[in-house]
Amino acid sequence: MADPVIYLDHQATTPCEPAVVAAMEPWWSDQFANPASRSHRPGLLAAAAVEQARTQIARGLGVEPAGVVFTSGATEANNLALKGLAEAELQAGGQRRHLVALATEHRAVLDPLHYLSRHGFELTLLPVQADGLVDLERLQASLRPDTLLLSTMAANNEIGVLQPLAAIGQLCRARGIRFHCDGAQAIGHIPLQPATLGIDLLSFSGHKLYGPKGIGALWIAPGVQVAPQLHGGGQEQGLRAGSLPVPLIVGLAKALELALNDREARAQRLEALRDRLWQRLAALGGVHRNGAAAPRLAHNLNLWIEGLDGAQLQRALRPVLAVSSGSACSSGQPSHVLQALGLSRQQAAAAIRFGLGRHTTSAEIDAAVAALEHAITEARQL
Ligand SMILES: *Cc1c(COP(=O)(O)O)cnc(C)c1O
Repeated sequence: MADPVIYLDHQATTPCEPAVVAAMEPWWSDQFANPASRSHRPGLLAAAAVEQARTQIARGLGVEPAGVVFTSGATEANNLALKGLAEAELQAGGQRRHLVALATEHRAVLDPLHYLSRHGFELTLLPVQADGLVDLERLQASLRPDTLLLSTMAANNEIGVLQPLAAIGQLCRARGIRFHCDGAQAIGHIPLQPATLGIDLLSFSGHKLYGPKGIGALWIAPGVQVAPQLHGGGQEQGLRAGSLPVPLIVGLAKALELALNDREARAQRLEALRDRLWQRLAALGGVHRNGAAAPRLAHNLNLWIEGLDGAQLQRALRPVLAVSSGSACSSGQPSHVLQALGLSRQQAAAAIRFGLGRHTTSAEIDAAVAALEHAITEARQL
């Protein structure tokens, strides 16, 4: 086997926890029945496992199980939320055609919104402040009588900053505007109970919280109408057709349970490691943190380094360190998030994202710092 690489890219994905793999195990080959097969015992058992998982997830979020719709991940949940809400508005003969989101949203929010803007809706993308946080006055000023929905992520996948969801929820609620939140980086990492924040639609994903890839969910608040985007066998109350992936659903519930159990202790531990990483790198000079120091995910650090190209530095570090020069999903392009903070294309291209995780050790952080110090010093001497 190759030398182990220190993995500090947990905003791109997290390892599936062995206890999660174990929980999924019986549902692949042993108990393989389709939960839609209500005429026999194996099918009923599979259906019971799905409903138990749904209940467990709902309890973790402080909501009713009926609102939880399983999807293939946060991308699909976002598509269902945004396009589904827009389509339901059209079907109901509603007049609201205006959509609002932050310029720093994930592509899995921006692209469905751009799609809608080509199909009769009008999109306002709000700039953020230099620290990545929304300007609430500006947000408020953008809301109109015909605003249908506002979408903001809870935690940014590149810079980790946390948006003020409760305040945004209040602004929406007072105007009858639906509030969608992409919680992919937040669920299992920060306390987030959608119903207490005025959120109407919440997306999240298994593989960002130490669960399997290919599973996620959309929580839909009671009374919120969403038109299905996948048509077929009528699963998930007709909202999302397709045979349910029982093992993945069981795994998602287990992963969320584990994440909620150690969330606070994990955040405290990783915050201390993250701060040590930052202090050691900041001491090199010419190193700038992207995004507010707080409120921010405890396990995220994003910086740009004067006189260095992030991708080049990342290549030099590749034998020892797995880090990202931005979002995992927009390879090649300087980050739209960093440019929204006011960084130039060149500065944005000099950025590195560190995402610490549950199994990151203090020895790994020390080794990462040593590798970075070495690589940065070398690059600056060239
Ligand atoms: C990873 C991520 C997504 C996409 O999730 P998938 O489950 O991979 O589709 C969407 N939004 C954010 C903020 C993410 O971090």
